[in-house]
Amino acid sequence: MKCFIDCHSHFFNIVDIPLYLTVKDKIPMGTIKRLFGGLVLGALVPKLLKEKEEIILFFERSIEKNLVRYSDEIKTAVDDIEDILIIPLVMDFDIPLEIHLRKAVGGEPTVKEQYRRLEEAINSVSTSLSAKFCPFIGFDLRKLLPGFGDKLNDFIAFWDSISQNYRNINDLTQGKPLGIKLYPPLGFNPHPDKLPQKYRDFYQWCCDRDIPVTAHCQKGSYEIGSTQQALFRNTHPRNWEKILRKYPKLRLNLAHMGGEDQFDNLFYGRFLEKDSWTYKIIRLLKDYENTYADISAFDYSDSRAKKDFIKALKHDAVKKFGDGYELKNKILWGSDIPMIIDSKSYRKNMSKNGKPEYQYLLENFKRSLKTLKTSDADEIINNFTCENPKKFLKLD
Ligand SMILES: [Zn+2]
Repeated sequence: MKCFIDCHSHFFNIVDIPLYLTVKDKIPMGTIKRLFGGLVLGALVPKLLKEKEEIILFFERSIEKNLVRYSDEIKTAVDDIEDILIIPLVMDFDIPLEIHLRKAVGGEPTVKEQYRRLEEAINSVSTSLSAKFCPFIGFDLRKLLPGFGDKLNDFIAFWDSISQNYRNINDLTQGKPLGIKLYPPLGFNPHPDKLPQKYRDFYQWCCDRDIPVTAHCQKGSYEIGSTQQALFRNTHPRNWEKILRKYPKLRLNLAHMGGEDQFDNLFYGRFLEKDSWTYKIIRLLKDYENTYADISAFDYSDSRAKKDFIKALKHDAVKKFGDGYELKNKILWGSDIPMIIDSKSYRKNMSKNGKPEYQYLLENFKRSLKTLKTSDADEIINNFTCENPKKFLKLD
């Protein structure tokens, strides 16, 4: 049975983002910062503002309207497929607010409130949606520390009150979550040098309950000056090497697979660059049964990264990465809506002025496979967009 699953998107809007902290560099969301930099510049240079039009409109539109609009766009892109599932990742900004802007605590939506808003929005337009929307809930691991209230039981109770039983996409309840989102760039290391007991309890609980976890894992386009070192340390795949050694069954998606710049660093002539983030992630995919990596936000207009991406797939097909699980069974499709919608990858003919729509992003991904045999390319498309996400999400 054919299906289409987008494992990485965000259906938040401006109400959900702590804007002041983002602009002040305390929250490393490069896209949002570029967006508001664009607003200021746009006042001076209208052409730049025009380029940001789509993404600005996304943030000012209601969540309900975005859900309908983008599920229609996705349906247009895969119009022969009935079972479509979109995973919006809900971000948890609670701790950065508590640390950096105490007076905003209680005024900004907490992660629980954000989730409720999204769930309500999904349900209020459910009859107009061409897809199922089942979020992942953000969780800042610092909430497990005594200084921040030691909230593991609280989180487990919350999870139990909202999680669902399901077997296939048809069974899924609109708006009910399927997993947990971890975003280390917000300031926490998922495996500090001394792993706190509560972190151990959390990972053990994720394994026992077999809950899918998506962790942001790319350097990204952050410009946060003096804390960049800490950001790389927190986000680095080596943290997940340590965690998987202790919790080899953890069901984990390493989001962005290191990002384009690390694909660029994967090959050095005939040699492999074993220090690149993407190589480290590939090892984790090959060595552990339940590990996956999504390719959301991949820039298909970056011809070098695209070439290296395909080279990695070919390399693996002839076992040049060594033994282990095959990459073609481990990579997940993701878009990163809305972060991608102002990029060339989202546009017809890959120009800044081309018409933006989801079908062009998907087409650009498919085109990047054109040097493969047709049957291999077809298998990869079906695996990335359906079979692999089903395995990650435990869907029949
Ligand atoms: Zn994202």
